This record gives sequence, structure tokens and C-alpha cells, in this order.
Amino acid sequence: MATTVLSVTEIKSKALDAFVNKFGENANICVCAPGRVNLIGEHTDYNEGFVLPLALPMITLIVGKRNNLEKCNIVSLSEVVSSENHFEFEVSSRKNIKPGEPKWANYVKGCVANFICDVPSFNAVIVSSVPVGAGLSSSAALEVATYTFLEALTGVKSGKPEDKALACQRAEHDFAGVPCGIMDQFISVMGKEGHALLLDCRDLGIKQIPISQINDYVFLITNSNAPHKLSSSAYCKRRDCCYEAAKRLNKESLREVSMSDIQVLKLQNVPEEMIKRTRHVITEIQRTIEAVDALEKGDFNKFGQLMNESHDSLKNDYEVSSIELDTLVAAAREINGVLGSRLTGAGFGGCTVTLLKKDVIDETINHIKAKYSGNATFYIATPAMGARILDIN
Ligand code: ADP
Ligand code: MG
Repeated sequence: MATTVLSVTEIKSKALDAFVNKFGENANICVCAPGRVNLIGEHTDYNEGFVLPLALPMITLIVGKRNNLEKCNIVSLSEVVSSENHFEFEVSSRKNIKPGEPKWANYVKGCVANFICDVPSFNAVIVSSVPVGAGLSSSAALEVATYTFLEALTGVKSGKPEDKALACQRAEHDFAGVPCGIMDQFISVMGKEGHALLLDCRDLGIKQIPISQINDYVFLITNSNAPHKLSSSAYCKRRDCCYEAAKRLNKESLREVSMSDIQVLKLQNVPEEMIKRTRHVITEIQRTIEAVDALEKGDFNKFGQLMNESHDSLKNDYEVSSIELDTLVAAAREINGVLGSRLTGAGFGGCTVTLLKKDVIDETINHIKAKYSGNATFYIATPAMGARILDIN
């Protein structure tokens, strides 16, 4: 059976209780922002390509209230921060906010520092149902929830949704020190129930793609629960390799490059690694375009086939898979009724996403459990809404 995700009501009541316990009064603001799964288009965002994520029912929720202390008190109930789950910082001048310890608080501080205007001091409790560090973007959920909280607190709303996403991305770059792409924040801000989001990372154009009509099919997330081994250096190495390849071809980015350019790189005697990385990006951008077309035509077999090709390219050309992810993908593909399976997120651990017929969900889960020596967890990826302010009651 897939794991049942806590409902918004359950998470909210947990957060409100914790707020009263901690601060001795009731919170009067409640907001949330979702995690995401990317269906296809991996390692294409920083190459100005396409990505196709959907927002998940798993959310990060913040409750809070203004205080008169000139400093903010924030508590996260997440297990990953259990030893240092509370921190305080001054907000009298946004320019003086600096990253520091505990690390998780930098995501929050970065959003306050990047907010549109000064913010008054506040108390807040954070509760999340997004697995942390699993590639479902708990970090963007935390940033976007924080930013939405600040909008509710000040009454000042970000002009355009993309400005909000970009400010959150900057928080992750400058405060958490993670040079992430723009996909995670975009989908956490703009997710729409029943839709995946096609994002063009070159001009930030978006298109909502309905997937609610897929009725007999469903996307299943399998969390390998294997430790995330993608060090930021492995990520940066791949990113820099792509930038170098584009530069050698006199292009702004690999978005502008086609398969015929591979020949040009070969003539320049570049390392084989650069050929492989470039080939992945070119083919993955093309696959994402074809996948959207397939989805719009209701051709799920084609979508599944493209997912399989995406995984194989990530494994062989981009070299970001792992034994755990390959095992999960191979096991899923053995079931009749599974149309496609691939790693999702940056790789080296984290999750896979599988397109399958609804009536083989349990069979697939049982088969994966039998074949995988680790402890996998399963979630149905129902496309949900982006960040929002919730009623406090
Ligand atoms: P992912 O975004 O795939 O979950 P990241 O490594 O990008 O993984 O982000 C995980 C980090 O984000 C955690 O180590 C922690 O610092 C921070 N984080 C995410 N959610 C929470 C939360 N609810 N409370 C505290 N910190 C969180
Ligand atoms: Mg993240």
C-alpha cells in the first residue's frame, strides 16, 4: 500500500497545538507550500531547457503571529532538526541578516532577507509532510511557505508569481549555499490541481498541462530512502561541464545545441564525459517536448517510453543514478501495466517516479519491495495546488 499523506487539516492542527504550547497564545496566520515531483526533464533547468513537474499533496505548513520582541522565534517540528529545532533572529534591519547555524534556518532567513519590504518580528511553527532530502524539494517548500507567510504577515503581495519564485531561489543560493535551478520554486508557487507545469527555463514561460484525464493511470513515487549522495561538488561539476560545452560551441546554453553539434565537440577532442553530458541534455530537452505532446494526446505508452529513455540517459550519459535507483526502476518495469519508470530529482539517491495502471499499484509495490533490499516508501503523486494562505480555523 502507498503511504497515506497527512491531510492539510491534520498538519494544521499539529502546528496550531505546537504554537500554543510554545508561545502561550493562538497563531493567527496559516500558510502552506507543496513539494514536487518532476515527471521528465532532468538536469535541463540550468541548461535553459524544459521541465515538467507537478505539485504534490505533501506540504510544508507554517502557522504564526506577529510579536513585539524585535526578534523572530521559529520552531520546526521536522525530525531532521530535532536537536536544534528552535532559533531566534533579529529582523530590525533585513540587511543585517546573515546565514549561519543551524543550517535549516538559512532557508527561512534568506526569504526574510529577500522579501519585498521590511517585516515585523514574528513567532512561527513549521510542520512538513514533505520527506526531507529525498529529492521531492522540501527546501523549496520551506522557502515558498516562508515567503507566503511573509506576504500574509505584511499584507504585501509579490507582484508576479515568478518574482516570488526567483526571490526564493535566491534565498537558496545566497543563504543555504545551494546553486539550484528554478524548477522547484516555480512549481511550489504555481502548482495547479490536476495539472503538471511545463516550464521553459530559458524565458520562464509556463503552460499548465491537464493530467487529471489520465483516469486509469497514475504516477507512483518510490522513495529509496537511500542517503542523498549527490554532493554539491558532483552537481556543480556536471553543471560546469554543460556550461563549458555550450561555450565551446559558442552558444548561450545547451538549449541552443543540437545533435549535430556533438560532432563539432568530437572534432575539438573534448573529453568523452563532455560528449555524454551534452548528449543527455540535448535528448532530455527533446524528450520533455515529446512527453508533453504525448500527454496532450493521451498517449501514455509513449509518455512511459520517454520516461524509460530519460532514466537510461541519466544513468549512462549523465551518470547520476545509483544501484538503489536502478534496482527500483528495473523492478517496476517488470510489471505488466507499468508504462515507464525513472529516477526523479538530481539523482544519486532520492526517489523514482513510475507511470502505471491504477489496477497494478499494489502488485507493483509488492514486487518492488521484494526486489529491493532497502526500505522503500511509496506515494501516489496526485497533482495538487501551489502555495496558499489558509483559513486559521
Ligand atoms: P530536498 O529539497 O530534496 O528535500 P535539500 O537538501 O535540497 O533536499 O533540502 C533539505 C534541507 O532543507 C534540510 O536539510 C533542511 O535544512 C531544510 N528543510 C526542509 N524542510 C524543512 C523543515 N520542515 N524544517 C526544517 N528544515 C527543513
Ligand atoms: Mg532541495
